[in-house]
Amino acid sequence: MRTFTRRPVVYIHDRPYFLQNIVNRRKGVLTLQPIVMKFGGTSVEDAQAYARVARLIESSINERPVVVVSAMSGMTDALLKSVEIAKETGAEQASLILEEHFARHKVVSETLLSQQEIEDFRKEMDAARREVITRLLEIEGRVSTLPALQDEIASCGERLSATLLAAVLRRSGTRARHVDARQCIVTDERFGRAEPLMEETTRRTSSQVGAVLEAGEIAVVGGFIAATVDGRTTTLGRGGSDYTAALIGASLEAREIQIWTDVAGVLTADPRVVRRASTIARLSYAEAAELAYFGAKVLHPKTILPAVVRGIPVRICNSLAPEGGNTAIYFDTEKTPRTVKAIVHKKGITIVHVTSARMLGAYGFLRALFEVFDRHQTIVDLVTTSEVSVSLSLEDTSALALIVKELEEKGIGAVKVEHNRALVCVVGEGLRNTSGIAARVFTAVRDINVMLISQGASSINLTFVVEENLVEQAVRNLHQAFFESNTRELYKSAMRDA
Ligand code: ADP
Ligand code: ASP
Ligand code: MG
Repeated sequence: MRTFTRRPVVYIHDRPYFLQNIVNRRKGVLTLQPIVMKFGGTSVEDAQAYARVARLIESSINERPVVVVSAMSGMTDALLKSVEIAKETGAEQASLILEEHFARHKVVSETLLSQQEIEDFRKEMDAARREVITRLLEIEGRVSTLPALQDEIASCGERLSATLLAAVLRRSGTRARHVDARQCIVTDERFGRAEPLMEETTRRTSSQVGAVLEAGEIAVVGGFIAATVDGRTTTLGRGGSDYTAALIGASLEAREIQIWTDVAGVLTADPRVVRRASTIARLSYAEAAELAYFGAKVLHPKTILPAVVRGIPVRICNSLAPEGGNTAIYFDTEKTPRTVKAIVHKKGITIVHVTSARMLGAYGFLRALFEVFDRHQTIVDLVTTSEVSVSLSLEDTSALALIVKELEEKGIGAVKVEHNRALVCVVGEGLRNTSGIAARVFTAVRDINVMLISQGASSINLTFVVEENLVEQAVRNLHQAFFESNTRELYKSAMRDA
């Protein structure tokens, strides 16, 4: 089993410090390890937002920030949509839908930059636009898109956004430089969901970003995008800029990885579903990993691992209201056992039931079953078994038809598929040793048909499946039961738990 370093962190004015990382780089000069500040698309949606982000970075200047930034909100969606349109209707139509987004970048530059800088950025943007059109022409009329071409097109959003932010910082007198993420993050060739090669990533990031830091400048790196060893553009999957921040943080042994977004940290539920959801002040790495995996969009699920390996705290902050709440994620969690921390949910789930009398008292059945999912590179989220059946939940159904065909042809079992399902996941370290939680959970959703139930192996989550159109009701009921009870009920539940 992997062991993770637990390094002593001291919080001074609410900022974490690894004492051993305050290193003596030059004689007599104590140099702090950098922090990583990642800004999502929602934090850079217009000129006002860029200006706000620049001020936040400048106010942390003494902490040696390294900046990771996403594409402007809506840009990646538009770029990916243009790929679809190029395939179906042609490159001309496809490039037209991007114009309004290029125009948004132009407005930001014209609002915040000097005449010369506006001209420089215009040249960069024109080059990017020409490159995108060339790729769209290559895609035009193809039945399927080459994933490598798609990644090249998608990468344009982060490249422009990072160039723009570096220019905005320089304009206000801060020494900043755009560092192309493709010179730092090295991945395998799984275009669209590439995995980093950690050793090479660490080597290149330390050298590229390290040089900028040494020069006393701020490196601004585009999130989400990376490159193979031989320099072909890849992407890390949707929402992957958080992952970039973690990879850069781990490579530089940063003191803290800050994810700046449009909400006050990780909340007790998705605020779009529960208006009264509130900030969770502290989460353990395990809790954060579970809730990111099971649907809390605020954090990309892969973000936690690089941070855990290096023992770096992750903090989720609100770029719209920095002084409001935020969430700190580290090994330790608040010492409040018997608590549920969050209710998260994930829509678009498909359930596959495989029934076979062969399973009864036989071995080798589950291996044969999972080999089929393996071969088709399909991730299974939840598994429950009975004597003669296995039920699994999937998010990615791109290979489902082939999987069902193979399961049936190989005689592994009879297959039944249910679409339009959702996962609900109740997360909290307190679940490890609290009895009665399941009863409270299922009482709260007693009017809703619950289909698959799993107490995760980590024992800090309780997950189940419901029909998609009922999931929001389920989440609201649970939030009400665990976070909105009145004092009398809280007292009663505390007595029950005691
Ligand atoms: P960014 O552009 O900063 O990466 P995202 O849209 O990826 O932002 O993630 C932030 C959004 O995640 C929030 O606006 C919120 O709607 C959603 N979200 C879903 N679940 C949660 C949760 N439990 N806590 C906080 N935000 C959540
Ligand atoms: N821009 C990318 C996306 O929209 C990555 C990110 O925002 O994290 O998926
Ligand atoms: Mg995100």
